[in-house]
Amino acid sequence: MKKYDLIVVGSGSAMNIVEPIIQANPSTKIAAIDKDEPGGICLTRGCIPSKIMLYPTELAASLDGAEELGIDVKVKSLSYQKIMKRMRELIDRDINAIRNGLSNSENIDYYHSEAEFIAPYQMKVENETITAQMIFLATGSRPYIPKIDGLDKVHYHTSDSVIRMEMKELPRSLAIIGGGYIAAEFGHFFATLGSEVTIIGRNPQFLPEEEPEVSALVKRHLGRRMKILTNHVVQKVTQSQDGTKTLSALDRSTSEIRTFSANEILIAAGREPVNDILKPELGGVKTTPDGWIKVNEFLETSQPNVWALGDADGQHLFRHVANYESEVVYYNAILKRRIRVDYSAVPHAVFTYPEVASVGMREKEAIERVGTERVLIGYARYEDTAKGEAMNAKDYFVKVIVDGSNDHILGAHIVGPYASILVHEIIAVMYTREKSWRTISDAMHIHPALSEVVQRAVGYMMPVEHYHEHFSSDDN
Ligand SMILES: Cc1cc2nc3c(=O)[nH]c(=O)nc-3n(C[C@H](O)[C@H](O)[C@H](O)COP(=O)(O)OP(=O)(O)OC[C@H]3O[C@@H](n4cnc5c(N)ncnc54)[C@H](O)[C@@H]3O)c2cc1C
Repeated sequence: MKKYDLIVVGSGSAMNIVEPIIQANPSTKIAAIDKDEPGGICLTRGCIPSKIMLYPTELAASLDGAEELGIDVKVKSLSYQKIMKRMRELIDRDINAIRNGLSNSENIDYYHSEAEFIAPYQMKVENETITAQMIFLATGSRPYIPKIDGLDKVHYHTSDSVIRMEMKELPRSLAIIGGGYIAAEFGHFFATLGSEVTIIGRNPQFLPEEEPEVSALVKRHLGRRMKILTNHVVQKVTQSQDGTKTLSALDRSTSEIRTFSANEILIAAGREPVNDILKPELGGVKTTPDGWIKVNEFLETSQPNVWALGDADGQHLFRHVANYESEVVYYNAILKRRIRVDYSAVPHAVFTYPEVASVGMREKEAIERVGTERVLIGYARYEDTAKGEAMNAKDYFVKVIVDGSNDHILGAHIVGPYASILVHEIIAVMYTREKSWRTISDAMHIHPALSEVVQRAVGYMMPVEHYHEHFSSDDN
């Protein structure tokens, strides 16, 4: 049996802390294992390839309405082949660099293989048994495939297969099962390139993780380029001789069955753990009722010195959260500190057009936490600022949720161009000791930059009721 100081399963966020561990102790021996290409999902089939694909569609979509600004421009076409080829070239270059780094490190044995527990602190990789007194589980997640009658007999795609370029041509029509951010981003991508896209989501709200009024606005805007159905459950799928797929979906609001046909199907119905391969139970590592690896607030699993981080613990499935958790694991496992994870200001973005960005609590959670009487909402529309008006940025807005008793920002939600950048002003304040919206209001802002919309939102606070009476429209 081969002995290591540390076994790391998953080559994404866990790799952040491998280098500092080696630098602190140059004789450390580490087994780094990944069954797929090295670099983790974010690089190989997640954030990075999808954003390389989406950027050209952002540019193209931003030209909608250009003539109102005096620009006579028409996007003739977007090349699916060229966009996908560029995406693959960029990520393959990075994957190769990581593979070389792992393969050439004197401290690391890199296994391109599945890893499974066979006993506590013992794993099987390739045909070897390896052991270590410390193990990091950063096994990520994979697409959840819902149980749908006939799905096993039809050809379908997931974000994985699209990014692997298994969809050779731009489909004439595409049905997307799922209504979350991956469905929205891929829907936006394919629709902007010219596919006829139908998104079929089972949740009553499109983008269910967002504020209802944010979802409603995105649905309205994206709905100009694709069909978006909510509250529909796909129950059956068939494929005809020519490859056309027919989907039958139950409309939960009317109990009607509706049918849709498409050349291709993309499943984007959520993510699930990959524990059938890992077999954590054999390593004495407990899982949650949903199957994610169970961790405490220090990211320890049920087995001493076995730590889990990133998607594997099922908490917030984003790369920046996985990166943060890798730091917590470094402090706790290696430096023997007792740092508790803090998820009070977790941000995320949806890279559609319009873009969505959000941090911290939604209004409903804020009310549950501190009570309606303490919650104040700050609100401003892009078009209320000079830059927003110059951009002709209609409808888009910033909503900031604060605790009126101490001025703390509890959450913020932005929909519109550059939302993922604008939200950072609020995120930064949420990481200060004071967490006060007054920091934003007091800070001198460049005039006329778009960031004035954030300052304006915190300068216009109102009770929840007033906000809903005058500003919010959440008709999904
Ligand atoms: C289409 C898509 C778009 C996304 N966009 C964004 C975005 O814009 N922003 C964002 O923050 N997040 C995004 N994400 C999520 C992000 O990719 C993940 O949160 C992140 O990659 C998780 O990192 P990790 O370190 O937990 O796991 P990763 O290291 O990324 O993945 C785990 C690795 O472990 C391997 N593995 C699993 N089990 C085993 C085993 N038993 N043996 C060997 N190897 C194993 C897996 O194959 C995988 O390569 C996106 C995800 C997808 C699918």
